[in-house]
Amino acid sequence: MTVPAYDPENIFAKILKGIIPSVKLYEDEDTLAFMDVMPQAPGHLLVIPKQGSRNILDADPVVLARLMPVVQKLAIAVKQAFEADGVYIAQFNEPAAGQTVFHLHFHVIPRHEGVGLKPHSGSMEKIETLTAHAEKIRACLS
Ligand code: 5GP
Repeated sequence: MTVPAYDPENIFAKILKGIIPSVKLYEDEDTLAFMDVMPQAPGHLLVIPKQGSRNILDADPVVLARLMPVVQKLAIAVKQAFEADGVYIAQFNEPAAGQTVFHLHFHVIPRHEGVGLKPHSGSMEKIETLTAHAEKIRACLS
């Protein structure tokens, strides 16, 4: 497969190591979920495996199998927390597909009828806002 090697110095690897701060939502042995710092809509969160892979192309299927139930859990929680009409789940592989951070991640974004998304990797949200949104989501995690 012609996927470049995983770079353990990427920004999400640094979040996993605690070198870079993040507003965390959920953590277990295999998975971390946290707020996207440049949300495309209020409640935009990211779910990542702790095991390093660049994206889905080089991921271990066992890791994917453990990750997806967490994506589902967070999608249900964020839909309830933001009283959303739907949930958008996105995952990009390589720059040609829009990937900018090279540690596998799933975007989970609540959507409301008739409300558009802000641009991808647009403007930074205030930490207080992200923290308040994370509290709302956590309150809906069963
Ligand atoms: P990609 O294009 O790789 O699918 O998306 C990367 C996402 O990571 C973007 O939505 C961007 O806003 C988010 N992001 C980039 N740097 C950071 C960071 O340092 N912390 C957090 N929480 N999110 C980040």
